[in-house]
Amino acid sequence: MSNKVQTAKIEEKNRNITDMIGIFQGIADNPISKFFLNHTLDYCNKDHAHRLEVCLDLYFGNREDACRKCKTLSKFVNFLINRGTSSFGVSEDELKEIMEDKYWVKGLSSVIKGIAIFGVRKPFVPGAPFQVVWNLTRACNMKCVHCYEDAGSKGKEELNTQQVTEGLEIMAKSGVTSIAFSGGEPTIHPHILDFIRKSNDLGMFTAMATNGYTLSKDGECSKYIKSGLKFVQISVDGLEARTHDSFRGVEGAWENAIQAVENCVDSDLFVEVATTVTEYNFHEIPDMITLIRDIGADWFMIYNFIPTGNGEKIMKLDISPQKRFKLLKRAYNENDGEMQVLSTAPQYATIAEMMISEDNHVIPTHFSNPEYNNPMVEKLADFIGGCGAGRFYMSVEPNGDLYPCVFFPHESELKLGNLLIDDFEEVWKNNELLNTLRNKEILQGHCGECDSHNICGGCRARAYNYFNDILAPDPGCINNKYEWEKIKNKFSSFKEHDNSLF
Ligand code: SF4
Ligand code: SF4
Repeated sequence: MSNKVQTAKIEEKNRNITDMIGIFQGIADNPISKFFLNHTLDYCNKDHAHRLEVCLDLYFGNREDACRKCKTLSKFVNFLINRGTSSFGVSEDELKEIMEDKYWVKGLSSVIKGIAIFGVRKPFVPGAPFQVVWNLTRACNMKCVHCYEDAGSKGKEELNTQQVTEGLEIMAKSGVTSIAFSGGEPTIHPHILDFIRKSNDLGMFTAMATNGYTLSKDGECSKYIKSGLKFVQISVDGLEARTHDSFRGVEGAWENAIQAVENCVDSDLFVEVATTVTEYNFHEIPDMITLIRDIGADWFMIYNFIPTGNGEKIMKLDISPQKRFKLLKRAYNENDGEMQVLSTAPQYATIAEMMISEDNHVIPTHFSNPEYNNPMVEKLADFIGGCGAGRFYMSVEPNGDLYPCVFFPHESELKLGNLLIDDFEEVWKNNELLNTLRNKEILQGHCGECDSHNICGGCRARAYNYFNDILAPDPGCINNKYEWEKIKNKFSSFKEHDNSLF
């Protein structure tokens, strides 16, 4: 693409975004529309849903009738959506096609609720977390050296079945779009299938993160799919058994994980393979991508190493900012339409922005989404990109404690409350720590002044785990070399391997 064409495209994109912000800002600031918007947030006892969801269901034809008040409010919501779509250059039919997926409707509902509660802001905050990762149990059948949960045996204060069910109901009612069950190892929880079924019945997109041991067995995948599982994440940490098994502390773990990936692919489940990258397996990543693509997984997710839980003990295996940069560039170029290669490293967005081309439209945000070719999402990168802690994510511990992200250590100053004790919606709206995380202007070091702080902002969990400060610079970025050198000097045993593949 010539420089002239590229500049014209960027200008057009900026113009569209400015128009769109103006329209939504006008709606959010107008007292009459604010009045209507706030009323859509009420729960309707006649229609058994929040009025906003009823309005959206009416708009998208998923519901034929509703109470008088919901029908009146739906006229306002229709107007809002039509203004929004025209500013995005998306037709009503295109929007209706996207919204055939009920989870997109839930997501849109959360976006509109976010405008009502938080206004139009950068970075954007939806009306409820898009995804909650629920660590159901600390029990695990492996002994991973990098485990964020420091898992092993079942904790004493884990919630019982009734309490988990109650927690799921709270989250569904608050507008959470997706639940991802994790652990420990969620498949060894005796009631995991019941929880998946319940979450699915409550209308939430239901995912699970596993080491693959259970799903490697014949007939297991279908049980999960029948219960309503829509997405599975399976961890594979190396190209071969030697690397993976030594990380997982269990012989045969790699074979099981690969078998689980194959079983899930064969069962048509959406499969993400997750790999935490350290000095130990960095050189294996390109061949791993090929292996996993050949098996037929949908996503390959490069997990940023975060020295929390057990991971704190292997801090010295963290890769340098230069290596992370090379790895993410390579990952971006591996997006070939067959399998998406994504990363939880928020710097991936800056690389994508740098490398975006006519043919490759992946605009990774930390809240990763499979369809970046959706024009609405592409134009919103500035609003929705970057670290999702406090904006798109939340995590629940086995005892119901809430944290901004699973990678935050379980320290009292980082705890947001408890799912069953505190008011979940109130925590989301007003918690001081969440509000701090939502402000990218107060970040320190280069992260604060960086042009990319809206689409990246650095990983706040890494900042905290290295510097005991959620606002500190992320030392994993080439722009924060000084901070990286400080860490390296602290751990004199830091040893970089020669990774000639990159
Ligand atoms: S300096 Fe911070 S905000 Fe900028 S790219 Fe690096 S990590 Fe992201
Ligand atoms: S702190 Fe942010 S960037 Fe880091 S893992 Fe959590 S959500 Fe992702």
